[in-house]
Amino acid sequence: MEKEQIGPCARCGRTVYCNGGIVEGTLLENRTLLCVTCTIEAKSEQNDSGS
Ligand SMILES: [Zn+2]
Repeated sequence: MEKEQIGPCARCGRTVYCNGGIVEGTLLENRTLLCVTCTIEAKSEQNDSGS
């Protein structure tokens, strides 16, 4: 699998990779990049009961 470096996580600064076409994290519309861990944390912080 080829890993492509996307950029640093906006929260923790870890490098986020694209692995075989799948981003190991989240790229938000405002170009904020989050790693997997921070994506989960951000979701729990949001406490969104929708969906
Ligand atoms: Zn992070």
